[in-house]
Amino acid sequence: MKVEQQKDSKQKKIVQIEDLSVSFDGMEVVKHVNIEVNSGEIVGIVGESGSGKSITSLTLMGLLSKQAQVTSGKIIVDGEVLREADRPFDEKLYRRFQGSRMSMIFQEPMTSLNPTKKAGVQVDEIVRLHTDLEKEKRYEKVLETFQAVGLKDAKKVYDSYPHQLSGGMRQRVMIAMAVILHPDLIIADEPTTALDVTIQTQIVELLKDINKSEQNAMLFITHDLNLARRICHKVVVMKDGVVVEADETEKIFMHPKEAYTRNLIEAVPSRLKPRVSVKKESNTKVLTVKDLSVYYEDRSNSIFKKKEKQYAVEHVSFDVYEGESLGLVGESGCGKTSLSKAILGMQEHMSGEVSCHVSRPQMIFQDPYASLDPHQKVYDIIAEGIQIHRLAANKEEERKRVFELLEMVGLTAEHAARNVHEFSGGQRQRIGIARALSVNPKFLFCDEPISALDVSIQAQIVNLLMKLQKEQGLTMLFIAHDLSVVKHISDKIGVMYLGKMVEISQASQLYDSPLHPYTKALLTAVPIADPDVSRSRKRIILEGDVPSPVNPPAGCRFSGRCKNCMEICRQEEPEMREVKKGHWTACHLYDTKMEEV
Ligand code: SF4
Repeated sequence: MKVEQQKDSKQKKIVQIEDLSVSFDGMEVVKHVNIEVNSGEIVGIVGESGSGKSITSLTLMGLLSKQAQVTSGKIIVDGEVLREADRPFDEKLYRRFQGSRMSMIFQEPMTSLNPTKKAGVQVDEIVRLHTDLEKEKRYEKVLETFQAVGLKDAKKVYDSYPHQLSGGMRQRVMIAMAVILHPDLIIADEPTTALDVTIQTQIVELLKDINKSEQNAMLFITHDLNLARRICHKVVVMKDGVVVEADETEKIFMHPKEAYTRNLIEAVPSRLKPRVSVKKESNTKVLTVKDLSVYYEDRSNSIFKKKEKQYAVEHVSFDVYEGESLGLVGESGCGKTSLSKAILGMQEHMSGEVSCHVSRPQMIFQDPYASLDPHQKVYDIIAEGIQIHRLAANKEEERKRVFELLEMVGLTAEHAARNVHEFSGGQRQRIGIARALSVNPKFLFCDEPISALDVSIQAQIVNLLMKLQKEQGLTMLFIAHDLSVVKHISDKIGVMYLGKMVEISQASQLYDSPLHPYTKALLTAVPIADPDVSRSRKRIILEGDVPSPVNPPAGCRFSGRCKNCMEICRQEEPEMREVKKGHWTACHLYDTKMEEV
């Protein structure tokens, strides 16, 4: 994983951020920051929310002209001072640089692209604004760039509107827009955060290739230290507007000097304590999902308005036993959300069986900001369930229980009187967990409970859930979009792809000897704590996007992206088989090998 930097004697200083401080309404949010980026170099700015990493990059790009005030230092790009303390923002100067000499790739291409204009036209505009090229030459240039960033059917992409493209394709269009004029500096602000893991890997490789071939300077803004390690030559760690540490990437990882950096490294899911199974053998089923299909009825395709069924989940079966923790993993379009809704009884169109054999199952939601009323008192939120289910004999007992629950999730009795809006995301998630536990549930359903939280908080919440599971003997279903988290919380893991379960087994078996090619690719995207193992590991880069679940490929749904694809795979859908004891997969590779394995 070590990123080798080309040693080039002609390396040029492209970015010099010197002693930069930025204020908003008198409040300093970036404080005396120094960063340098040379040509051919990728420098990562890593930090959690509020660290000042995005403000630094937006100031560099000149996108905070009105609100932000540079109170100290200066920004030099390519030898030219773009911004300086006490000098007004020079819009003309910035306009000369933006797009042609420096460009930016944002996190969510859907919001940065104009939805009413075709993708090709939007890229063409950049070329038209900054060059004298004729229309035809520009068209050729756009198509060439689309090809170069991996958009194979360039003409079709040119004529597509953003909503007609997948997330990965939209991000490639954004990258094409950023590189088409060969700028000296590219700022990539969380460019893969909104993407699925396998697509994330593709985009990271593409950015690395571009940096190598163009020898430009790249500033990579991310909250994800592992990602920074995969792509950056150097890393700058920021916290509360200050640079806490900056060095070559491997040095930072091998010998972090600052406690904050060490915490961030420790918090990376792969560094979490390894899973020790807390499950006591039990034959009591808590949740049964049998042959579940979830579909939507689409009338739009038929003039006779005949309903057509479109499947989001097809024939999925699994059981969760008492005291067990099952992790379900899959990328966008795999059917996770539809499956969750079906389990919660919120799915109208479904067939098959979902039965929960315990009362008061509880749910932990993805976004603690959306799932709790910000104006409610913490006490009232937690006490509500106790009151509804009459779980306390009197007010005193209720108070005692609320305080006990707060303590259980790492908060204090003193927090009870406060309003939700006074708490951070991680604290809100703790409140959500206390609320769920207030009714003494036997079964906890966690739907991506940490994906909206900062890395250091993620580890705390996972550890808390593991502790609670052990102490309370909870049964848990844990849904996530990558394998790094479920590894630590699951006894058993199920992998879903495009509405189907493709592999399910004990967690250790799935990690040590995965069977399905998709699981193998997902596993190579999981960060490994040991740097030597990590460096020697070969990453499987899946080509293409997850196809639309509305129109899945014939035969095996993974056939279009699978390197092992055979003739039969495109014709016959593989069935779920038990290849080893307790280890099931749906893949034709194991049709004939049954006896051998
Ligand atoms: Fe690949 Fe074929 Fe297995 Fe599908 S069935 S995962 S295409 S080998």
